[in-house]
Amino acid sequence: MIDQEIASRFIARHAGSQQWHDRALHVLAGGIGHDVRQAAPFPLYIDHAQGAHKWDVDGNRYIDYNLGNGALLLGHAHPAVIRAIEEQAPRGTHFGNDHPLQVRWAELIVQLVPSAERVRFVNSGTEANMLAARLARAFTGRGKLLRFEGHFHGWHDDLIRGFLVPFDIPGSVGVPDRVFHDALLVACNDLEVLDRALAENGDVAAVILEPSGASWGTVPLAPGFLEGVREITRRRGVVLIFDEVITGFRWAPGGAQQRYGVLPDLTTMAKVVAGGLPGAAVAGRADIMDQVAFTGDSAHDRRHRVLHYGTFNATPLTSAAAIATLEIIARGEATAQADAIAAALRQGMDEILERRGIAGYAYGEASAWHIYLEKAPGSGVRDRAALRTTDPVVLKGMPGDLVMAVQAELRQRGIEVMSGLGGLTSAAHTEADVAETLAAFDAAMAELAGRCVATL
Ligand code: PMP
Repeated sequence: MIDQEIASRFIARHAGSQQWHDRALHVLAGGIGHDVRQAAPFPLYIDHAQGAHKWDVDGNRYIDYNLGNGALLLGHAHPAVIRAIEEQAPRGTHFGNDHPLQVRWAELIVQLVPSAERVRFVNSGTEANMLAARLARAFTGRGKLLRFEGHFHGWHDDLIRGFLVPFDIPGSVGVPDRVFHDALLVACNDLEVLDRALAENGDVAAVILEPSGASWGTVPLAPGFLEGVREITRRRGVVLIFDEVITGFRWAPGGAQQRYGVLPDLTTMAKVVAGGLPGAAVAGRADIMDQVAFTGDSAHDRRHRVLHYGTFNATPLTSAAAIATLEIIARGEATAQADAIAAALRQGMDEILERRGIAGYAYGEASAWHIYLEKAPGSGVRDRAALRTTDPVVLKGMPGDLVMAVQAELRQRGIEVMSGLGGLTSAAHTEADVAETLAAFDAAMAELAGRCVATL
């Protein structure tokens, strides 16, 4: 729940969204389309979007730091992407055949992503991680997966436990207990813990992680951790999967692996990779990926191949949007612009928190910004610097009412976050967007300081 005054001001400005939400409650299960759209007093209903902005059904404009759940590094409705879709749509949206665009799309991935030797297309990040897990299990002949507390890898059974605080609960009902036996959950940022877990469990097929740190850097990785994970997994013959669903083509044109110079065996990508249309990919070492290949011996293949289907894998429409997007990203300026905007936001937001004596800080890297805030009243915190932490329970465990109140106050002032108290930037954001965002953030903090948000 958020406080009544915040809710009533929000309701007054968003009557259209409220009406649509009321209708949705009769037909959409749970009244929303995605768990992260859960918002108080209700979610926004958006009418259209362009560049860094989107407009709701009441005509309110937002500077968008959600960007299609992180998919739109070039911003909404980029002219080159729209042109590619408009050229392809009348030629057919789905052939049920292979087609030249899927090859060109795969070539761009192989060109840009340092560890990508072969590519297979799927439809979402969840599916990409399912395929990566199957490939790793087939390759090693082992059954278990090891994942880190707080990291998100989609909503499928295998990896659902461990991304929400508290990490040791199932995360969802409806998942059989036996699944948890095969998905080891270990603390992040501790190489000894990882090495011991792998020593004690000789049947681990793959280690999977977000190379940004959990939830696109909400929980930063310790220096050297990524390199250490690479060394340990190589030494122990365990497949290393980078979940680059968000960081792919965003942390650098070649993703986090390019930014950090650490190469995984398999990479999953599902946002920027598909140019804003539904689509995703698994890429990696040819010897692991080629387990999906037919050998010509059907009796052999029935027993020894990795099976993979998918009606909408790399449709021509998605492929066209993806190619247009990746060709621009390959030039490098888009990533640099998005990074510069995020850096300016992080610095400006941190200065505002400092000036207002708020118990919190801004952080993040590449084109991501995050805010950590202590809840009022009575946090007892006196020193902003002492708040800095890499504890996932703290960083992912901010109280829901605090998060929803800050989100509502930012939306009220035309700012849309990605999830939690963080956002992603695009190449379409400008310095004017930064100035407007910081003014809105300052006003929201003035409203909430001492009330929902702790001061020093
Ligand atoms: N992995 C990561 C790191 C993600 O951020 C997400 C989605 N936000 C997923 C996997 C799942 O992707 P999808 O929603 O396309 O299934």
